[in-house]
Amino acid sequence: MAFSFFGGIHPADHKQLSCDVPIRRFPEPDVLVVPLSQHIGAPCKPLVKKGDQVAKGQKIGDNTGLCVPVHSPVSGKVKAVEMRAHTSGTTMMSVVIENDRQDTPDPQIRKRSPEEVAALTPEDLIGLIREAGIVGMGGATFPTHVKLSSGLGKVDTIIINAGECEPYITADDRLCREFPEAVIAGVKIVMKILGLSTACIALEDNKPQAARALRAFLAPEDGITVRTLPSRYPQGAEKQLIYAVTGRQVPSGGLPAAVGCAVFNAATCKAIHDAVWEGVPLIERIVTVSGNIVMAPKNLIVPIGTSFNDLLEAVGHSENPYKVISGGPMMGVTQYDLSVPTTKGTNAVTILGHKHQYLVEHPQCIRCGRCIDACPMKLMPVLMYKSLQSGDVENMKSVHMMDCIECGCCAYTCPACLPLVLGFRSGKQRIRDHAAAAASKKL
Ligand code: SF4
Ligand code: SF4
Repeated sequence: MAFSFFGGIHPADHKQLSCDVPIRRFPEPDVLVVPLSQHIGAPCKPLVKKGDQVAKGQKIGDNTGLCVPVHSPVSGKVKAVEMRAHTSGTTMMSVVIENDRQDTPDPQIRKRSPEEVAALTPEDLIGLIREAGIVGMGGATFPTHVKLSSGLGKVDTIIINAGECEPYITADDRLCREFPEAVIAGVKIVMKILGLSTACIALEDNKPQAARALRAFLAPEDGITVRTLPSRYPQGAEKQLIYAVTGRQVPSGGLPAAVGCAVFNAATCKAIHDAVWEGVPLIERIVTVSGNIVMAPKNLIVPIGTSFNDLLEAVGHSENPYKVISGGPMMGVTQYDLSVPTTKGTNAVTILGHKHQYLVEHPQCIRCGRCIDACPMKLMPVLMYKSLQSGDVENMKSVHMMDCIECGCCAYTCPACLPLVLGFRSGKQRIRDHAAAAASKKL
């Protein structure tokens, strides 16, 4: 039985534009920009310098603490290690690599036999996943090895998130249709690490081909079930997915492990397979490039470090883009500099035209309450917006601003077109900054 989460919306999903377009490999660009931070946690320190020759898959950055390494997606020469534009809207230290088109692999990359994989202990596997630089590829970018090691002994339910509820995005849908065996092999590795004999792959019911493809590779003894859930945004959000599958509610400020659950994205499972079986680190990913002015929407295997400009050129657009978004239109981040590179968390580039936007110059709340009905976190967006206007951090905390998952349901339903999510993002940052300032005063 699927539990139904509160609120949510049914936006036009526009997935028909790309869901039947098979995955193609994007040609490696001449120059790639690899940010040294593509994960939640401490940025990597560079392990290479200008003029160094690097191999494909070679580690080029790493650090201690909450960190995963980054690797070169091509073989070539390091042109620079410098600050470059990043999808977060800031600049970030990055390794700029000139592709030598020799495709020279790092000598450490090698396939493992079934016997070798079977002999790996959970600790070995967690180590391999860290060294491969794997993070949550649904956009969260939390280091996967940390999620796995912190879940040891605490988790009784593994959920694989193939929900992909954001409009336009079809990368995971195509992944499950075209690489079901690799996704399932990754799920089995997660099960081995966490010592569990069952797992559930959850999809929305608008992806029947993906569900069929996965089921075709599953046997009852695998202990893996495929569950289809009603299509409703944000079905793929972690807390809503856990509730839909198990009926358990992650407490405010808590992690899924607090209710015995661990959630992994389907693309993350494929990356785990690639690291363990093929010995290949995370140097490329599937990206949906779509949007309402895109001439030829595509699902592409893109080397990390490829610029958005290159991707826009590959699909073409019928008019000047009004917005280019890293991710989908609901939770993605609008980009102001299209030289930004694709990162481990880029599941989509969404290109939207001007004519489809609604602009209101001085929006005013009309107190209709629609945002409250839509909020899947049962928050009061209208009061949260008022607290933002007050500028008082305590006030923002009192309306549970930090529980906002930035899903955009409130903004989608708001007839006054208030910039709710944008405001909540900045409000959450103010709360974090305030807490950091208070902590440093105590030291
Ligand atoms: S963006 Fe935040 S406040 Fe708005 S609906 Fe989503 S969780 Fe609720
Ligand atoms: S939906 Fe918009 S106009 Fe209606 S109460 Fe919420 S913020 Fe105000």
